[in-house]
Order: sequence, then C-alpha cells, then structure tokens
Amino acid sequence: MNPLRQQISDSDWVARSLASVWHPCTQMQHHEMLPLKAISHGQGAWLMDHRGQRYLDAVSSWWVNLFGHANPRINAALKDQLDRLEHAMLAGFTHEPVVALSERLSALTGHHLGHCFYASDGASAVEIALKMSFHYWRNAGHAEKQEFVCLEGSYHGETVGALGVTDVPLFTEAYGGMCRRAHVVMSPDARQAADGETGTEVVARAIAAMRNLLERRATRIAAVIVEPLVQCAVGMAMHDADYLRQLRSLCDEYKVHFIADEIAVGCGRTGSFFACEQADVWPDLVCLSKGISGGYLPLSLVMTTDAIYQAFYHRELTRGFLHSHSYTGNPLACRAALATLDIFDEDQVIDANFQRSQWLADALEKVAAHPLVRYPRQRGMIAAFDVQPRVKEGFAQRCFAAALEQELLLRPIGTTIYWMPPYVLTEGEIADLGERTSRVLEALA
Ligand SMILES: *Cc1c(COP(=O)(O)O)cnc(C)c1O
Repeated sequence: MNPLRQQISDSDWVARSLASVWHPCTQMQHHEMLPLKAISHGQGAWLMDHRGQRYLDAVSSWWVNLFGHANPRINAALKDQLDRLEHAMLAGFTHEPVVALSERLSALTGHHLGHCFYASDGASAVEIALKMSFHYWRNAGHAEKQEFVCLEGSYHGETVGALGVTDVPLFTEAYGGMCRRAHVVMSPDARQAADGETGTEVVARAIAAMRNLLERRATRIAAVIVEPLVQCAVGMAMHDADYLRQLRSLCDEYKVHFIADEIAVGCGRTGSFFACEQADVWPDLVCLSKGISGGYLPLSLVMTTDAIYQAFYHRELTRGFLHSHSYTGNPLACRAALATLDIFDEDQVIDANFQRSQWLADALEKVAAHPLVRYPRQRGMIAAFDVQPRVKEGFAQRCFAAALEQELLLRPIGTTIYWMPPYVLTEGEIADLGERTSRVLEALA
C-alpha cells in the first residue's frame, strides 16, 4: 500500500490523484509547487473544479475539444448509440457508425482518400501510416525503400515508431537508443526568416534542403511526414501553404509518399477542414485524431488512396495490412465523430470560424502590444506568440499557474503562449481571453 494514501480525506481528489495517478507529460515532483486541479464538470468552453472555481479552456483540453464540454448534441448521439452497440470487433464485422463515418470523411476529400483505417490514439495513426507506406513499397517490389523523413521540430507522437519521426529533444532524448531515427530536414518555420527575407524565401530554402536529400537518397526513402501549416507541439511554428504544394511535387518526382499528420491541424483548426486543402493538394496518407471525436473519445484514423489500398489487395494473407488495435473503429467513438461532423454541417462551422478567427486576430493584436511579445502569429483557430521573459527556466509552469489565477487554462510550450480554443467562444469571450492573457503577462513581468 502506498504510504501517501493514509492521511488523505475522501474528498481530496488532488491528494488522492497525486498518490495514485502518474500524470502524463509531467515531472511529478513539480506538483509539490505546481497546482493540480481536480475537475468536476465542464460546460461549453469552461471547466469547473471541485472547489467551485472555473477555467476557460483556451487549449481545448490538449487540442481535442471542438464544440465545448458536455455538448448537448454530441451527448444525445452518444446516449442513443450506447443503447444500440457499445463495441464490436472490426475484423470480420462492421457497423453503421464506422461505415457512415468513413463515407463522410472520404467525401470531404472528394474521394481522393477513400479508404479509412482506424485506431484509437494519434500516435497509433502515425505508426499505421508509417507501416502502411513501408509495407506498400515492399508489396510494390521496392523493399529497399525503408527510410523516413521528418522536419526539424516535428512532433508525431510518443510511441517508439512515432518518436523516430519526432524531433523535439524533450521527448526523444531519453529514448534515442530505442528509436530508428528518420532523416531530419529543415523546417519551413517562418520565424527563421533572416532580416529582409520573406516567408516564401524560407519555404524555398526548406524545399531546396528536401530536394537535396531526396536526390541523394529517394531510392531508400518510403515517405516524408509533415504537420501541415502548423507544427504545433514544438511551439506553434507556422509556414506558408506553398511549402505543401512544392513538397507534393517533390514527392511525386522522387516517388516517395507524402504523409500529412493532421492530428492537431485537421478538423477545421487552421481554417479549412483539412489543412492541406489550403495548398490544394492531397497527400498519400492523412492521419486524423484529436478533434475528430469532438474531444469525447479516443479515435484516430489513417485515410489513404486507392493506389495504396490496391497494393495490399491480394489472395495472399501476408500482403494484407495485418495491423489492429482492440478498440479499432469503436462505435461510440465513431458516433461522437458523426455528431461532430453534423455540427460542422448544421452550423456551417468553417464559415463561422472565419469570423471567430478575426476576433482572435483582434485579441492577439492587443496582447502583442506588450513589450515582451515576439512573433505574434495565427492560422485560423490557432493564435500564438513568443515571450522574452527575464528568466526562461520554468516560464511555462509559472505562466500556467498565473493563468489559473485568471480563471484561464493556458499551457505554454517553452516560451510560446498560444490559444487553441474550442469553436464555441463568442466575441466577448475572445476579447476576455485576450484581457486575461494580458493580465497573466503583467503578473509575470
Ligand atoms: C497529439 C499529436 C499526435 C499524437 O496523438 P496522441 O493521441 O497524443 O497519441 C501526433 N501528431 C500530432 C501532430 C499531434 O499533435
């Protein structure tokens, strides 16, 4: 028995959690200083804790929530689904929610990506996309194409395969010995512009670096994986859509797959349903997760082309894609996703978010007037800026704590503060988000 458990009262959820739950992405010792909040319920963009305090969820609970907590429409769909079918295995069986969801997502790509393969978490979708590409080349008689390419600062999840295409030292460093490293190529992050250099010129440099690698190595390379438009986890690094257009041509020219990890940027986050739409290109494989279930249940999927699907379609078992997870295509999660897509249609969310992103731009402009702010930037429903604090060490944690004091859930990455709110904030709430954030900056200055 854990000795910490002994003197804890039943209603002390924080102490009970610290004694029994190993929290994700956390140095547990930091909770000796850092507040842990026990959430009792949520409504709209707000989370409420057991002490009656509330927090504006400006990061969509790790980028998953799209239409608010306890959304009545998603709740109703799930309650209905619960009484029909909670789960059935997807090998040898199928069900209405998974079929309907696959058809609707396929239609959203104009049927370019008409085959959906399901999993539960984002990292598993990335593993699937990598394996699918690798196995495709083997089936196509090019078993020598076994390597992958990712971008500087890329993040594709934290399972071992996904870490191999991740370039954030915080996550990879301890596990270097376990991972098969991908080639890491210059990111098109627009902040790298030298004095007088434009975003287009940064893109040209990044494309030249990619061409250089592919020219030397493409016969051994299966796929390039990128986070289109915004590399979120490294600190909301944004690039011009033209990068994706040029990358698409390079991948065609050198016969390597283009994998778009739209786990964070998909589902309307950047202003279009798929981020790649803004470059007018379709990748060979797209990973979706996070927002696809409205932030309700773990669901991820990989969408791919008929060309890739056909390379696995054969009499021989082992030419097939023999990958599975226990909860593959879970009906409840698919139903939450269908309810989420219904909201996109009924409320014309992509159009409505255009207005909402203008409000976000106004709020960002005000916060960016602060003398410590650098590189204010925005893409649709993601707004971010860098801060130059006097003390960098521990800035993210101090900022998180200071934001809670302002009834605000912010979770800075290093010295980057960002907003990635659910698509339900009103004009007033967005202005309020800006003002609260300014007060956080004041408190930290
Ligand atoms: C969150 C994320 C992942 C991993 O998803 P998990 O569900 O956390 O495994 C992969 N890629 C990107 C771009 C992400 O933002």
